[in-house]
Amino acid sequence: MDLVEESPYRFRIDRHDPMRVPGVVFASRDLLPDAGADKSLEQVANVATLPGIVRASYAMPDVHWGYGFPIGGVAATDVEDGGVVSPGGVGFDISCGVRLLTADLDRAALRPRLDAVMDGLSESTPRGMGKGAVWHLTDGAELDAVLRGGSRYAVERGFGVQRDLDRCEDYGAVDDANPAQVSERAVERGARQVGSLGSGNHFLEVQAVEEVYDEAVAAAFGLRAGQVSVMIHCGSRGLGHQICTDYVRGMEKVMPRYGIHVPDRQLACAPVSSHEGRAYLGAMAAAANYARANRQLLAHAARQVFARVTGCDLDLVYDISHNLAKIETHEVDGTPRPLCVHRKGATRALPPGHPDLPDDLRPVGQPVLIPGSMGTGSYVLTGVAGAPAWASTCHGAGRVQSRKQATKAVRGHDPRRELEAQDIAVRGVSRRGLAEEMPAAYKDVAAVVAAAEGAGLCRKVARLVPLGVVKG
Ligand code: 5GP
Ligand code: MN
Ligand code: MN
Repeated sequence: MDLVEESPYRFRIDRHDPMRVPGVVFASRDLLPDAGADKSLEQVANVATLPGIVRASYAMPDVHWGYGFPIGGVAATDVEDGGVVSPGGVGFDISCGVRLLTADLDRAALRPRLDAVMDGLSESTPRGMGKGAVWHLTDGAELDAVLRGGSRYAVERGFGVQRDLDRCEDYGAVDDANPAQVSERAVERGARQVGSLGSGNHFLEVQAVEEVYDEAVAAAFGLRAGQVSVMIHCGSRGLGHQICTDYVRGMEKVMPRYGIHVPDRQLACAPVSSHEGRAYLGAMAAAANYARANRQLLAHAARQVFARVTGCDLDLVYDISHNLAKIETHEVDGTPRPLCVHRKGATRALPPGHPDLPDDLRPVGQPVLIPGSMGTGSYVLTGVAGAPAWASTCHGAGRVQSRKQATKAVRGHDPRRELEAQDIAVRGVSRRGLAEEMPAAYKDVAAVVAAAEGAGLCRKVARLVPLGVVKG
């Protein structure tokens, strides 16, 4: 893949047939994926062939190989100009995302009680493949309420407070969820998993604010140096996975009818305005609400543990998805256009002044949450004006080793002991699971964040370090 370096953090893949627009990769030279082992830059070029795509197919600095779209891929299609929606541009874990909460507690004060907190969190956080959940919904009407109401429904039921909703993307629920477009199989898989972490890469982490880069913005977010925070990363479990599977299959079949040809079957798509496109977006929105309710319930469980062990409450900083497609209005060549913005392993990052932000965040911009790894750290950033990729940025450090490679790399090591030697408490995960998630499996999050900032996608606010992790 030929890359043209446009500036230190911006590379271009020139348009060539059948690409409709160029590819743009935001990264430093060091962060560019290794073309031999990772086909994500080819995927950036493939995405550029989608009908209705506008301006460019973008890759964030954490880009790596995914299903159809790369993870760390952003693409917008013009809804009124034949633009398509592609389930592979959202991913299998629909609305997987991150939520950050803070405790009114300093790390030194937590220290003597950290083990008790971690034990409590370990006990109260259902996790692993299909193992238990906060809610077992056997009543179809209740699952329907989750799919329509997201976090709002969880708060209505007493699992949170109104302020949580102000600090959730879309105030806790996306409109236009259509549970009727969710298959029975998806409902079956999701009904017993509301309020569960899942496995592998998903986590609940107790952290401390290690460094603050912008005091004023950090204060507006509710963050200060030394403070304890809790980060939760999970998504829509079996429900989202099944919806993605169902709609990839369905769209593969109807593409010829719409005269759509894609270079990779995993890019199956349909016009946003078609029956299939609208059905997918309705089902996807339902899964997005499910994922938000999921994070809301896990946050509630964590709050109870903190209240019991430390006497402190947890306040929500923000909750943001990193696997979602949204219909948004953006200016294209000076004209506002309705675009279907796919963010796949990418985070929305609204700039200061954006009307969709709650009043208290509007002056400073949207909190952007970027987890790194359980052994290194994570970042809080904020959106900036004039960002080049539809107000989006990276969603993590991004994998560099496959799970298999990562498992191999720790042979002869004891990953748990290595983390504990760094004073990071680890709860409930197999040796294999830990091995797959060791810091070496991911890119250097500091370099990724520096590239995102250098590319003008977002701006650093604070760095968080792990104190203890509950892994799925
Ligand atoms: P994904 O949504 O792609 O599975 O993961 C998002 C990001 O989370 C990864 O790119 C990685 O940087 C980060 N991550 C994975 N596991 C952990 C963890 O245990 N703790 C923290 N802080 N970050 C993690
Ligand atoms: Mn996920
Ligand atoms: Mn995720």
